[in-house]
Amino acid sequence: MVCKVCGQKAQVEMRSRGLALCREHYLDWFVKETERAIRRHRMLLPGERVLVAVSGGKDSLALWDVLSRLGYQAVGLHIELGIGEYSKRSLEVTEAFARERGLELLVVDLKEAYGFGVPELARLSGRVACSACGLSKRYIINQVAVEEGFRVVATGHNLDDEAAVLFGNLLNPQEETLSRQGPVLPEKPGLAARVKPFYRFSEREVLSYTLLRGIRYLHEECPNAKGAKSLLYKEALNLVERAMPGAKLRFLEGFLEKIRPRLDVGEEVALRECERCGYPTTGAVCAFCRMWDAVYRRAKKRRLLPEEAVFHPKAPVARG
Ligand code: AMP
Ligand code: ZN
Ligand code: ZN
Repeated sequence: MVCKVCGQKAQVEMRSRGLALCREHYLDWFVKETERAIRRHRMLLPGERVLVAVSGGKDSLALWDVLSRLGYQAVGLHIELGIGEYSKRSLEVTEAFARERGLELLVVDLKEAYGFGVPELARLSGRVACSACGLSKRYIINQVAVEEGFRVVATGHNLDDEAAVLFGNLLNPQEETLSRQGPVLPEKPGLAARVKPFYRFSEREVLSYTLLRGIRYLHEECPNAKGAKSLLYKEALNLVERAMPGAKLRFLEGFLEKIRPRLDVGEEVALRECERCGYPTTGAVCAFCRMWDAVYRRAKKRRLLPEEAVFHPKAPVARG
């Protein structure tokens, strides 16, 4: 296989796109494709300041790299979740990446901010770890974005992630949930916009970029992710993709372009301010504050916290 642009030996072959490229032209193509997705969906204004949620994995580090190269003012945010050595190593690679490139990094430490990391939080809240973790990440990312004056947050979700979520949602279809899936979630009062500039790249395409760019990233998966449903859905979709190259992208894009616009979601649910933290919620107290209030009650009963401990929703932000 030879590079479609220069005719030299190809480094990356993309069967689903009928495209093969050498290192140099792959790196160019990847950056241009990202910019195209950003423009097409009006994700960011030229040079806009954007908060990039960075886990230390290949997707979010590649995203931070590409957004910086494209001239966006990309500030990183890493959340230290307290998942043992895995979280320590995640923070280390993220900090090294920022330091080596002179990029601004914000860090929130879950345990420092609220007293417990994900494992204890899961136990004390009675939630499965991924649910407690996901709720915390979403809440904290938004809180930091709003407090630090960012209009928009970018995450490293790729085609495999998005197609797997769509697949899962279609196994138990709910119009409300399906209508909210997409590469752009617009901002609302108290809610930063959320964008996914890599949503059209397969995991393999992002990995190729990361490797060819020489980005050091954390290879391990979160220990809690083992056996997660999303991994089963990804396997199923990859099986289909192998027999029908391009199926994954057609599945997601077809849904976004042809089906989602026709969903009838009725009236949008009204949002009001959480009585505890002031951030938008549908009830009186938001899910994050409810979870932590319950955790504090239980932790006091078990004498893991002193009687006078109070939950403060606002997370302190460190500058790495
Ligand atoms: P995941 O759900 O782990 O596949 O992560 C999806 C996206 O969420 C990543 O691409 C990041 O943008 C963001 N993310 C995940 N974990 C963290 C973290 N610990 N800190 C900041 N952002 C994160
Ligand atoms: Zn080439
Ligand atoms: Zn709240």
